[in-house]
Order: sequence, then structure tokens, then C-alpha cells
Amino acid sequence: MKIHEYQAKELLAAAGAVVPRGIVATSVNEVLAAFDRLGGPVVLKAQVHAGGRGKGRFKNSGADFGGVKFIKTRDDCAKVADVMFKFPLVTKQTGADGQKVSKVLVQEAADIAREIYVGVVLDRTIGMPIMMACAEGGVEIEEVAARTPEKILKVPISPENGMQSFQARRLAFDLGFTGAQVAQAEKIMLALAKVFLDKDCSLAEINPLVVSPKGEVIVLDAKITFDDNALFRHPDIEKLLDESEENPAELRASRAGLSFITLTGNIGCLVNGAGLAMSTMDIIKYHGGEPANFLDVGGGANKEQVTEALRILLSDPSVKAVLINIFGGIMKCDIIANAVVAAFKEVKPKVPFVVRLEGTNVADGRRILQEAGLNLTTATDLTDAAKKVVAAAK
Ligand code: ADP
Ligand code: MG
Repeated sequence: MKIHEYQAKELLAAAGAVVPRGIVATSVNEVLAAFDRLGGPVVLKAQVHAGGRGKGRFKNSGADFGGVKFIKTRDDCAKVADVMFKFPLVTKQTGADGQKVSKVLVQEAADIAREIYVGVVLDRTIGMPIMMACAEGGVEIEEVAARTPEKILKVPISPENGMQSFQARRLAFDLGFTGAQVAQAEKIMLALAKVFLDKDCSLAEINPLVVSPKGEVIVLDAKITFDDNALFRHPDIEKLLDESEENPAELRASRAGLSFITLTGNIGCLVNGAGLAMSTMDIIKYHGGEPANFLDVGGGANKEQVTEALRILLSDPSVKAVLINIFGGIMKCDIIANAVVAAFKEVKPKVPFVVRLEGTNVADGRRILQEAGLNLTTATDLTDAAKKVVAAAK
């Protein structure tokens, strides 16, 4: 699960980091009121669940700025805020349609002498979280990491004991912090590591961490992603979800206890189990097709869930054919077959269906489908199913 920058900063502040003053606004008027309250130059920051905002652009707006804009005057503030709320923001992480902005963070502007990167992720090779840091942070960090990976410093963090002060201080020195900056940087790094561990994050990052010409160390941007499988332990975090940022179909599926992933092709896939989803997509691609999505009904889905799954799948207009690929283990083929019959009655699909059933109660499943006389193609095995659905989608 992702959250907004302003929420990430609140979590860091609660863990002991000092963050700059800022006010979240949901309209141009609120942005102006925040500008008046903060007084003086501010930065308007579009709050979307995607990085690269600074270098992004507002689609069809003609504006020559992105989701992070330095503002001096009240007039300018109104104009920029108007664009931010009106047009979707396109960054290299949003896709071509961009993301609608419903919140803008009005933040006091900082003077920047240098920009540093710090982030905590799980390092799967050593089986521990690590703090990664780079003295050359900011919007070019991906290029720095690709061209000069030796500039990325890495410090393992004990999952039991957390980051130790000496580790943070040593890293601060290695990043070139001097004098009083060291203690400020240390506090921020310890807070970042604490949030990562306490809240079961998969990523917690500050980019940039800024040093001002006066030597203040400032958290300018923060990004935190949580491990969905641990969310049940953090009701406070679950509450931070901004549903307007989520894909509506994926949200609907997760509410029904299903996992749905939107892709870019035209074949809808209903499968049981993530492994089968992967091999189904592989074989579709192998035979020249492209999956539009996959919906994993998992092991123990009931008839209602499978019906909802088919509704979600068919609500996607890019779906030109559907492959139902079930290997019944815990999931029984007759349950799937009954759900398919019920869903057909309800949603009256206009696209071709190919069904491949195998496993527990397969004879019942096939009989149910046959007796219902639905307009669908059955397949004998996975290759046969893939060939038939790829042909149907064309
Ligand atoms: P993103 O990573 O999504 O592009 P950032 O918040 O990192 O967004 O902003 C991009 C750049 O804009 C930063 O690297 C920094 O140079 C500048 N910036 C961001 N916030 C401020 C601020 N409050 N004051 C001054 N400059 C800022
Ligand atoms: Mg950033």
C-alpha cells in the first residue's frame, strides 16, 4: 500500500524527524489560504502516488511546470494551483493518462545547497533491511545508481534492534555532513529506519534530504510503501489509504477478497493461484496474445466471489476475450462452473470465453457448463486453451 508524501512526512515526524511546515489543500482557495498562513515563498506539491512529479507535466494544460512548483506571489499561486487541480499529472511512473490531483501540499520553500538520498528497503540477499544512501540525491538518483553504483552506500539494519546511533553517525560522515548537521542527519535516519521497521514497510525513502546554505538538514520529499500482508497489524496505516489513487477495479477486487491486476493487453484471465496466473500469462504471450489483466480467485473462493470476479473482469472495456483457467485443488471445478453460469445470466458477456477446467470435481464442472448451454469454448489443456483464446481475441 502506498501513501502520500504529506502522510509519509507525518509518520517521520511522529518518529522524531523534523519536517518542514506544510498545509494540505483540496481547492485553489485552500491553497491560497495556506499561502497566506505560511507567508512567503512556498512550493506547491501535487500529492499523487507516483514519483518523478518534479519532472512530470500536466496533460493538455500547456503549462511548463510539473507537480512540484516554486511559488513567489499570490497570483502565481492561484494560477499554478488551478492547473494542478484541473489536469492530470503525467510522470514516468503514472502511465500516459496521468493521475488526477485532489490534494496539494503547500510547503515552505527551502534553500538548497545540496540534495542527498536516503532510503530503507529489504535486501533479500542478506535477508535484512538496509539503508541505502547517496551524497548525490535528488531527481537524478536513478541515473546515478545506474551509472555509478559504487556511490550508493549501504548499511544493514538489525530487524530486532533497529538502526544504531553509531551506524547513522558513520553514514552521516560518509555522506559529507559536518558539524551540527551530523546530529540532525542522524536523527532523521534513525526516524526513517524506525518507521520502516515499526510499520512493516517495503520502502521508506527521503529524496531529497537537503542541506540548506545555513546548514539545516531538511526532509524535502518522503515516500513510504507498506507490505500489504502486514497491514492487518496496522489499522492506523490502513486508514491512510486514499481510495481515489487506487485502480477502481483492483480496489473492488480486494474488497471481495480477490486479487486483480490490470495489464495492457486484451485477454482477461480468471485463474486460481498466483503461480497458475503467471504460467497462464506466459502461455498466452507464447502464443502471440497479450493479457488485459488477471484475476486470481485463490484457493477457497465461493460462488459469490467468483461471480464478482467475472463482473470485474468484464467491466474492463479492453477485454476482447476471456480465458478461465482453473486447476481445481482446494477450489472445486463445480463451484467455478456454477459461478460461470450465474455470471453469464447476470452480465450477459459479449466477448468469447474459453474455459479450461482440470482437477477436483472436474466431471461435475464440465457437466454443469454443458447443461447450461452457454456460448463458450472448452479447451482440453493449457496449450489448447491459450491458442483458442488468442485466436478469439483477434
Ligand atoms: P519528486 O521526487 O516527485 O519529483 P520532490 O518533492 O522530490 O518530488 O521534488 C523535486 C525537486 O523539487 C526536489 O529535488 C527539490 O529540488 C525541489 N523541491 C521540492 N520541495 C521543495 C521545497 N519545499 N523547497 C524547495 N525546493 C523543493
Ligand atoms: Mg523526490
